Amino acid sequence: MTRATVTWIAGPVLHATKQGPFSLRESVRVGPQALLGEVVRIQDQTIVVQVYEDTTGLRPGIEVRGDGQPLAIRLGPGLLGRIFDGLLRPLSGSASNFVQSGMHAAAVERRHFEPAVKPGDALAQGVVFGHAGEADGATGRTQHCLVPPGVGGIVESVVAAGEHADDATLCVLRSGEGADAARHELAMSHVWPVRSPRPVRRRLPPLAPLVTGQRILDSLFPVAQGGKAAIPGGFGTGKTVLLEALAKGCNADVIVYLGCGERGNEMAGVLDEFPTLTDPRSGRPLMERTVIIANTSNMPVAAREASIYCAITVAEYFRDQGLHVALMADSTSRWAEALREVSGRFGELPGEGGYPAYLSSRLANFYERAALVETLAGSTGSVTVMGAISPPSGDFSEPVTSHTKRYVKAFWALDVKRAQARFYPAVHPLQSYAEDARDFAPWWVEQGNGHWMTLRRRFLTLLDEQAQLERMARIIGKDALPARQQLTLLCADLVNEAFLRQSAFSENDRVCSPARQATMMKLLGRFVDLAEAALGGGAAPEAIATLPCLRALQRMGEDIGDDALPRFAELEARLERDFAQIAAPSIAKPQDATDAAHG
Ligand code: ADP
Ligand code: MG
Repeated sequence: MTRATVTWIAGPVLHATKQGPFSLRESVRVGPQALLGEVVRIQDQTIVVQVYEDTTGLRPGIEVRGDGQPLAIRLGPGLLGRIFDGLLRPLSGSASNFVQSGMHAAAVERRHFEPAVKPGDALAQGVVFGHAGEADGATGRTQHCLVPPGVGGIVESVVAAGEHADDATLCVLRSGEGADAARHELAMSHVWPVRSPRPVRRRLPPLAPLVTGQRILDSLFPVAQGGKAAIPGGFGTGKTVLLEALAKGCNADVIVYLGCGERGNEMAGVLDEFPTLTDPRSGRPLMERTVIIANTSNMPVAAREASIYCAITVAEYFRDQGLHVALMADSTSRWAEALREVSGRFGELPGEGGYPAYLSSRLANFYERAALVETLAGSTGSVTVMGAISPPSGDFSEPVTSHTKRYVKAFWALDVKRAQARFYPAVHPLQSYAEDARDFAPWWVEQGNGHWMTLRRRFLTLLDEQAQLERMARIIGKDALPARQQLTLLCADLVNEAFLRQSAFSENDRVCSPARQATMMKLLGRFVDLAEAALGGGAAPEAIATLPCLRALQRMGEDIGDDALPRFAELEARLERDFAQIAAPSIAKPQDATDAAHG
């Protein structure tokens, strides 16, 4: 083991004189408590180390020991349902909610292992060699045990089914001949360096959207399964609530929720609430498919920088089992601030906004790991990344937002004005975008919305026209606008109220299935058609604005849940009846039509 002696300490950064070879990014242990750190720079005989734990009490002269490998975490069946700190050390399952410094790994657990191979089988990297379940076999899902990437060979021995420790050798592989001969010991868990993306057979183009259950996202700004989305928004615009709603309602198999540098009390909401929730799809506790990584603002700043890589490595590990994983990071701005703070301590030259020059490439390293892939074992899995950004004073031109924009395909901009008006989710329909949207038209056809592209464009056009007309209406007054434009405002209002507004706290509406979204979208499209026809037929905008069905449409999200879809047919019948009544007189009185049109 290589050693070095500490000569200088400032906060999370220390210098040490080395007595042997260290490599860049090597993981190290500092002092008698074996605090975890990482070599970030080497100059002559000096190494610069960032320490992931509180360095209070350390002094020059103490020893730094090299691990001989980069910063790595242990991936295995014990991850699901747990809460960890930024370096993947368990916060839950122990008596105290705080990790002891220097504690490096979860206590070894025992669980049931069921082998899926026999001696003589040839195993390639990434394939399943067995299954792991909870010791009592009753709770939790069974998980695949994978041959780690880069390892393969002929099975020499494998244990019988039964209870085994997490890190015990269960299967031995032999590979190569003569001088190349090697022996590989496989356990239920294996260690992987967090900064290295886990290999895949190939990346696949987007196929389907991640179903979030949020209408404005799925229907207007969809993110691909395996895609990347950013949620920028000023303080209090609803980033955390939205990420939580996505964690609860999206159709991923596994959720990795990273609370990164947010205040402890915000994280407490997640930590207290998640264990009590039920997964609406399976009826099982939501935590069974969730891994929470909590690195709040009071925890050591350098660990925050690493937490984002730990989280995505965990996500990739589940992806490699052929699962669809959603990673929520709240917030990448706090992560970037940690990067800035630590970089400042290294004495690096600050760039834009005080952030180091490598901010952009680090963001890219993170977001680029999101993908839909064919795994080494040949199955399909994905990691979808959704990162909140908290730009200071809500200014989207600041460095973290502008660099993130280069790497994400979906941009869900939260708007202060909408949030202030308590219009949630406060996603701004004109500032947000989804570059992949077009690719999902065939998927929407399967969900029963053959006109999704047309309806989507129509909604967005209405909302765009509304923004322009409202500017004009402020000057000349709404009533002075021509009838057509008054109708545009009416329809845009309806799209906002009936479709885009969706409370995260409503029993019926917090999650909206694609089928219900499709039905609601078509119903609103029908309203717009009928309203335009009625106007063309001479009906006054006021007559349309006072139709009784309008109120019912505005409330349909709250009133008609996913389990009551046939009630939309009743609503549609009502819509047709209402319009039939105002259309009839207009046919009788063509004179009015001209008046209305010119009025
Ligand atoms: P941020 O994380 O952006 O600072 P929060 O997510 O904590 O903001 O949201 C602030 C408040 O706004 C919440 O406490 C909640 O009252 C309200 N809110 C946000 N999003 C929603 C929503 N989708 N539905 C209902 N209320 C919401
Ligand atoms: Mg928040």
